[in-house]
Amino acid sequence: MSLIEVKNLKTVFGDKVVHDGVNLSVQEGEIYGLLGPSGCGKTTLLREIVMLQEFHGGSVKVLGKKIETLTTDEILSLKRQWGVLFQFGALFSSLTIAENIALPLVEYTELSRSMIDEIVRFKINLVGLKTEDGDLYPSQISGGMRKKAGLARALALDPKLLFLDEPTSGLDPISAREFDSLILDLRQMLNLTIVMVSHDLRSIYDTLDRIAIIDDKKIAFEGSLDEIDTLQNEFVKTFFRQKL
Ligand code: ATP
Repeated sequence: MSLIEVKNLKTVFGDKVVHDGVNLSVQEGEIYGLLGPSGCGKTTLLREIVMLQEFHGGSVKVLGKKIETLTTDEILSLKRQWGVLFQFGALFSSLTIAENIALPLVEYTELSRSMIDEIVRFKINLVGLKTEDGDLYPSQISGGMRKKAGLARALALDPKLLFLDEPTSGLDPISAREFDSLILDLRQMLNLTIVMVSHDLRSIYDTLDRIAIIDDKKIAFEGSLDEIDTLQNEFVKTFFRQKL
């Protein structure tokens, strides 16, 4: 079953056309990668799917709802069903890790304070942080821990769908591989469907089930990684020739 369907999507900034007829679909349970050269519109597409940015033609269906036709109430209930971790998806520096993770629960639910604290502790442990890390501020923890904290915040509302923009960028290789295995474990444990923008070749091979390559405003390829060898696409030829 597809949880996301993008049909004939068009995106324009001023006179710059970024997407012109993008089509893709993300199936339930998969880890789906958005790949392509710098500036091809990966992050923009992700932002459009999670309704942080408007698009200019075509349609986007998420969890069975066409997002361009929703009422305010429907938007709110749909947004509760996904979590997002942006590359610079900064945690609020004036809030502790626990307070950051609690934010979506405070904003979107009527749960009691003690219930929220309980959920926050659970999510902190779920991503491999220690309970006491919750009392620290973002500046007091490592980059790898900050990504995990951002992930815990994205998972606060038990989403079906998780969106990750360059989750391993800026991490040292060990923390990056640790993050990859965390993603695989969480997908299994929580039955997540994950859409990820990535440039990290190791991470791409280790985590993704299927990919879409955006190039020249369209999807140049959609499918599994074993099928890309025969592709006559400049980005694919240079990007996948790198040594791991
Ligand atoms: P990278 O891999 O380098 O992060 P990307 O594939 O994610 O790039 P986007 O960040 O989606 O690319 O940007 C796609 C294009 O749209 C770029 O040319 C960018 O300059 C342009 N763009 C993105 N957002 C805006 C905006 N709000 N206003 C104007 N142009 C924008």
